Amino acid sequence: MSSPFKGLTASDINSFALHQAGESMFNRAKLLNVGFQEALKDYDYNCFVFSDVDLIPMNDHNAYRCFSQPRHISVAMDKFGFSLPYLQYFGGVSALSKQQFLTINGFPNNYWGWGGEDDDIFNRLAFKGMSVSRPNAVIGKCRMIRHSRDKKNEPNPQRFDRIAHTKETMLSDGLNTLTYLVLDVQRYPLYTKITVDIGTPS
Ligand code: BGC
Repeated sequence: MSSPFKGLTASDINSFALHQAGESMFNRAKLLNVGFQEALKDYDYNCFVFSDVDLIPMNDHNAYRCFSQPRHISVAMDKFGFSLPYLQYFGGVSALSKQQFLTINGFPNNYWGWGGEDDDIFNRLAFKGMSVSRPNAVIGKCRMIRHSRDKKNEPNPQRFDRIAHTKETMLSDGLNTLTYLVLDVQRYPLYTKITVDIGTPS
């Protein structure tokens, strides 16, 4: 099979959609951790692009690939007037190599509800001495599909306190403490849908 990515074949690239089962609070970062772990059971991928489902790139030159430093991809979102809302912003779409992801112990599992988890990820990268690579604001343009806030994704009031403690918590909250139960895996031609029980806030 031919591939638009030089030197890569179909088995080297895949997309995984993570669906949180049940009625508990949404947990974006934990779902991304599950995606990382489950994808590696299929194939030894060395680059992971983590994308919110509602973000559409507007410029084909925005490379969805890994760089020598962690990459923030969605740098110019329509909802923020096509610019970064703040310099440390790392939300939306990002790409980390397997090694970069492992170095920060993955993403936090403890952010339930909206907000803060992307700031925690930024802190993790900074504490491990990494910097963030970004495209410019023209290449990084993207649109968010309009939707109202989902139920069970209310702003997390604990996020400010958690973000203030990343340095300590990142050692004991991440890939090394990730627990979940895969309920269903559906394989489609262009992506694999994983339905997962990630539990409830402890
Ligand atoms: C939240 C982030 C969010 C950002 C932009 C911050 O206050 O902590 O999670 O991505 O605002 O909306």
